Amino acid sequence: MSQDCIYCAKDERQEKLMIEIGQLRVSTLFLFREQTYRGRCIVALNEHQTEFFHLSQDKQDAYMRDVAQVAKAIEQAFNPGKINYGAFGDTMPHVHFHIVPKYKDGAAWGKMFEMNPAENKQLTDEEYEEMIGKIKQHL
Ligand SMILES: [Zn+2]
Repeated sequence: MSQDCIYCAKDERQEKLMIEIGQLRVSTLFLFREQTYRGRCIVALNEHQTEFFHLSQDKQDAYMRDVAQVAKAIEQAFNPGKINYGAFGDTMPHVHFHIVPKYKDGAAWGKMFEMNPAENKQLTDEEYEEMIGKIKQHL
């Protein structure tokens, strides 16, 4: 637990970047506010661990089930061409996966998704709520 970590501190820095959707087995699901990739989410482990392989086998299994559950919900809610998964954390070393739906003819199809696209596509509160509702329907 570190106050420098936005996933542990759960403060306004996190609030600016993402909206909490709900609790999974061992993680929390967030909708990423930047929506260049429609349906983009983050699955963050509920405890501060810097590497996935540091987790117990049981926790690794539970975490990957959370990731799979979210990816399935996103596929059903938004019908992307493919879902990408990103786990980096150089500057935010708390286990979290970016779940990034990609669309044929959409942004960065066939390439690495951009972490922070220049367009910085923000939606209205109503639009975020609608997306969250769709995801929850399929979780
Ligand atoms: Zn943390």
